[in-house]
Amino acid sequence: MSEQASSTPLSPPSTSSSRPSTDLPTPGRALAIGAHSDDVEFGCGGTLAKWAAAGAAVHLLVLTDGSKGTWDADADLTELVVTRRREQEAAASELGLTGVEILDIPDGELQSGFAERARVVAAIRRIRPDVVLGHDPWKRYRLHPDHRHAGWLVLDGVVAARDHHYFPDQGLPAHRPERVLLFEAEVVDHLERVGPELDAKVGALLCHHSQWRSTMGIDAEGPHRAAEQAAFDARVRREADEVGRGAGTGPAEGFKLIDKV
Ligand SMILES: [Zn+2]
Repeated sequence: MSEQASSTPLSPPSTSSSRPSTDLPTPGRALAIGAHSDDVEFGCGGTLAKWAAAGAAVHLLVLTDGSKGTWDADADLTELVVTRRREQEAAASELGLTGVEILDIPDGELQSGFAERARVVAAIRRIRPDVVLGHDPWKRYRLHPDHRHAGWLVLDGVVAARDHHYFPDQGLPAHRPERVLLFEAEVVDHLERVGPELDAKVGALLCHHSQWRSTMGIDAEGPHRAAEQAAFDARVRREADEVGRGAGTGPAEGFKLIDKV
C-alpha cells in the first residue's frame, strides 16, 4: 500500500541546494525493492519502464505479501494475497520488467533484522544489478513501518551483498552495485526524466485493482469511476511535472542518488 493511502497528497519533495543530476546511463540490470505491491510503481515506475524499453533487465522484489492491503474488514486475506500477486505480475508486465519476486513476509510485520537482510542480499547477489532502487528510510515522519524497514533493508543489504564475509553460506558470489537510488526521497538530488513512460506508470498502477479505492481514490463500482480514474491519471502526471519543474527537465521522478557504493 502506498504511503499516500492514509495521508494527505504528496507534498513537493525537498531538493538539495545544488542542481540535481539527471538521467543515469541505462543500466544493464536493475533491481527495485518495495515493501508492498504498488510501492515501486508509485516511486519509480516511469524510470523502470524507461530502462526496460531501452533494453535493461529490470527486476522487482516485493518484501511483503500484501495481506493487510484492504479496507474491507471481512476480506478473505488468503484470497487477497493471491489477488495482489496477480495484480503485481500484471503491473510488472505493463512496465516491461524481466522478473518479479514477492516474499511471504506478512504485510505490516516487516522487520529489518539479519534474517530479512539475508533474503535481500541473496536477491542482489543472484540478480547482480548495476542499480538498486528502494524506499528512503530517512524520509521524515514516514508513518508506515514497512516502508521504514524496507529502506533499511535495501541499504544494509547492499552493504552486505558486496562483502564476501556476509552470508558466506549462501553460496553466491558477492556483488557490488554501482549505484543506489532512493525514491520518496527526503532530499532529492537526482532526477530521471519520464515522459511517454508515464502511460506505462499509470497503466501499471491501475493493474492494482484491489488498491483502487484505498490508494487511488477510485470506486470501481461507483457512478464516478471514469472521472475518478481520470483524476488519478492527472495526479500522477501532475506530480511528475512538479518534481521536474525546479530543474526545468519536464516531467520526472525524483531520487536521492548514492553513487559511492
Ligand atoms: Zn507501501
